[in-house]
Amino acid sequence: MSEVNEKQVLAALSSIQDPDLHKDIVSLGFIKDLKIENGHVSFQIELTTPACPVKDKMKSEAEEKVSKIPGVKGVEIRMTASVRGNAPTGPLIPNVKNIIAVASGKGGVGKSTVSCNLAIALADTGARVGLLDSDIYGPSIPMMMGVNEEPYMMDNKIIPVEKYGVKMMSMGFFIDPDKAVLWRGPMIAKYLQQVLADVAWDDLDYLVVDLPPGTGDAPMSLAQLIPLTGVVVVMTPQDVAKEIANKSIIMFQMMRESTERDIPILGIIENMSGFVCPHCGTVTHLFSQGGGKRAAKELEIPFLGAVPIDPLVCQGGDNGKPAMVSAPASESSKAFRAIAQQIAARISSVTWEASQRREGK
Ligand code: ADP
Repeated sequence: MSEVNEKQVLAALSSIQDPDLHKDIVSLGFIKDLKIENGHVSFQIELTTPACPVKDKMKSEAEEKVSKIPGVKGVEIRMTASVRGNAPTGPLIPNVKNIIAVASGKGGVGKSTVSCNLAIALADTGARVGLLDSDIYGPSIPMMMGVNEEPYMMDNKIIPVEKYGVKMMSMGFFIDPDKAVLWRGPMIAKYLQQVLADVAWDDLDYLVVDLPPGTGDAPMSLAQLIPLTGVVVVMTPQDVAKEIANKSIIMFQMMRESTERDIPILGIIENMSGFVCPHCGTVTHLFSQGGGKRAAKELEIPFLGAVPIDPLVCQGGDNGKPAMVSAPASESSKAFRAIAQQIAARISSVTWEASQRREGK
């Protein structure tokens, strides 16, 4: 029998589609380092994010397709990732590929909790992740991440504190929250700009930014100043919360029109969804159900997932050990992991669409 050739392997692989980019994995250039020796085929599938939700499925599909080619005796596939950037890297934040802002219509919906757990979930997949607390009025991220030390300076740069695989920085290190209440948004934004320019993030795939809550001039100025890849909005399931979340989404949509930059809304996260009983696992909906999904549908933006009310999430925040670290097998951590994958997939597709637009396709 004649030896298997590259053309046959690529033809078999070209029937596999990337569900987010809507193209086959061969035309997308995902197949790297293809080698064939005595019927043994090996190659890499290089994805656009290590947090790809269909990574395992894609691997087994590729294995199956290639092993069916006559003459193939073995298949070895390595799944790798190279995150593509969309953050228009200017002098403000060089070396940061994608910046994800976490916003909310009001305080207390779990925006900071979600930011910490998502950052850890993304880092767990092997991505290089940073977390920036820009919620100047209530900087809670250092406490939630169990960071007691302050960042230090080296070669005139601020070195972020590393915890649970995430590089963390908080505006609370630099501004006294009691005094910050007197600051107007543009002042905070200017100060943040200065601090950001001085932080040595090194190479990051994703920087998660916890924005101040609401639709005031602080979150607005920050979102205008930071070159965002996209925004996720956290809300609670009640209908009243939906109205408030809508306001924040509309604010970003309006900013998209008023600034030259495109700020895609990556989607809605519903937090404090049903309560999962730690004893019997029954789900009780303390608030009305499904507000996040309804809001997403009305506003025609993706619903990224729901995180249950979980005492472990609250304790994790209080103890400086987020649920993703203290209870990685809990329902809430599973939800955070699934949402992180959805966000990474959305970023891959908005980045891809933006690159296609730039190339005039
Ligand atoms: P925000 O940043 O929106 O003001 P926080 O993240 O500070 O909100 O959360 C407010 C409170 O709610 C905190 O005590 C936090 O631990 C708790 N919390 C957030 N999400 C959950 C959840 N899914 N289950 C239980 N408690 C939660």
